[in-house]
Amino acid sequence: MISRQDPHAPRPAQRGAFLRAAGFLKTHPILLHLGLILAWLLLWRLSALMQYAPHASLWFPPAGLSFAALLLIGWRAVPALMLCGVGATFWIDRIYQSHTPWRELLLTGVIFGVAHCASYGIGAGLLRRIIRRSTLHSLPGIIIAFLVLGCLAALSAAWSGVESLRVAGLLAASANHGLWLPWWVGDMAGVLVLTPLFLALISQLFPQIESWFGGLQFQVQPQHRWPYAGKLLVSVVLLSALMLTAAHFRQPEIAFGTFFLILPQMWVVYTETPFRSALSIAIFSTALALWVEILGLIDQALVYQFAICVIAANTYFGLAVPVLLARNRKLSEMAFQDALTGACSKSHFFEDGERALIEARKYRLPATLIVLDIDRFKRINDEYDHAVGDQALIRVAETVRAHLRAADVFGRFGGDEFMLLLPGIGLQQALAAADRLRLHLQRTEAPGTSQTLSASFGVVELARGESTMQAFKRADRLLLQAKRDGRNRIGSAVPETTE
Ligand code: GH3
Ligand code: MG
Repeated sequence: MISRQDPHAPRPAQRGAFLRAAGFLKTHPILLHLGLILAWLLLWRLSALMQYAPHASLWFPPAGLSFAALLLIGWRAVPALMLCGVGATFWIDRIYQSHTPWRELLLTGVIFGVAHCASYGIGAGLLRRIIRRSTLHSLPGIIIAFLVLGCLAALSAAWSGVESLRVAGLLAASANHGLWLPWWVGDMAGVLVLTPLFLALISQLFPQIESWFGGLQFQVQPQHRWPYAGKLLVSVVLLSALMLTAAHFRQPEIAFGTFFLILPQMWVVYTETPFRSALSIAIFSTALALWVEILGLIDQALVYQFAICVIAANTYFGLAVPVLLARNRKLSEMAFQDALTGACSKSHFFEDGERALIEARKYRLPATLIVLDIDRFKRINDEYDHAVGDQALIRVAETVRAHLRAADVFGRFGGDEFMLLLPGIGLQQALAAADRLRLHLQRTEAPGTSQTLSASFGVVELARGESTMQAFKRADRLLLQAKRDGRNRIGSAVPETTE
């Protein structure tokens, strides 16, 4: 999991109040269900205000809440959602003044509730199984599963919803033909835009609900060159300009321009937290629905609905990118650096060394290689333990690093053997540097022991055309000779010409 401190996280006092409220809700689960009913009916009323044709909203936010609730609390959300279905049916009757007998309304509400819960319940149940078996590595797979199951669940909910209204006689026979399409796309937009946002909100209030969700709550470092509100403003201003242009010229093609508004959304995705990205699409979709309503742009409603769905889907794929980049950075660091000492890994040393060598040769400068191996290091491991040995390796690396210039390359070959490439430094200077290091080390105590450290060295100047690897082999032979000669000394030789 990639998790970093969000600088915009609530301050301790705010957080205390938030946790107290969350704690209160946790101990009163009935409040969760009441909250769910209230939020659902409120969203339902809001979406009824955004209806551009009877039973067809530009987007249907309650679908997103149902899907999120079923995903997080499973079948326990069904009673609340059933009540919502019945309540909404009675409310429809009042809005359209159809004066249907209450028994019929109740039956319709129950059928609608069953269709709604079954459609989203099955979709959410399948998605739960997929997420539980996944890790963050499979984030793109989870996103695809969410998009596919969200679309199919919305299709099923729309088709069965239309049927339940038709059976109850709440739908004129002529009206139901083709109604499922805008209903489906509206529900789908509701699911795609809002499910992740509601998931984040509900799971913050009830962190114990599902442990699998915790694993997906990654955060990426937000970049704050532009404030979040500024980015939202840019997105809404561009949208408003487009909608006003569409209303002024009344040319249907202008509606397709909405798809370009993916660009400011992606700006948010790549620079803000996933939660803020989800909030941004919700704000964008609401603004779009309001403009359609205010300017009467219902002829192109389907285009706008699809634009919302496409932008939301792209946002979720976009969310995977900063997470994958952060993981990549971490993996590269692990591959490039020795985790214990912070020196370059063996492969990275030879790569970097080769680059430094080319640069030195370009200016006809010499380059030298120093290889050093700690003397009798095994004793530290044996007399103390491996952890003390590790601390000794860290101390040696620190000592060497203190002697480095910016251009030098420092790597760990493996075990207790280190290497240094000194571009621009000739043999005599390198021998002097190695001797300074040797003297320094023999005055350095291994942490946690009463023993001082010492090391043996091999120093060579790189010959013309010689690679760092070839030079390393020569230096290593000299190092072995230094060990044989009694340790704590430097083995050196004049450069061999390989050309
Ligand atoms: P010499 O003077 O001949 O070099 O004697 P030495 O005891 O230092 O022998 P050598 O260099 O061959 O041994 C290196 C030892 O370093 C062997 C291995 O157990 C130990 N070692 C290798 N990697 C690590 C490590 O990451 N941590 C610790 N604590 N020990 C390591
Ligand atoms: Mg050794």
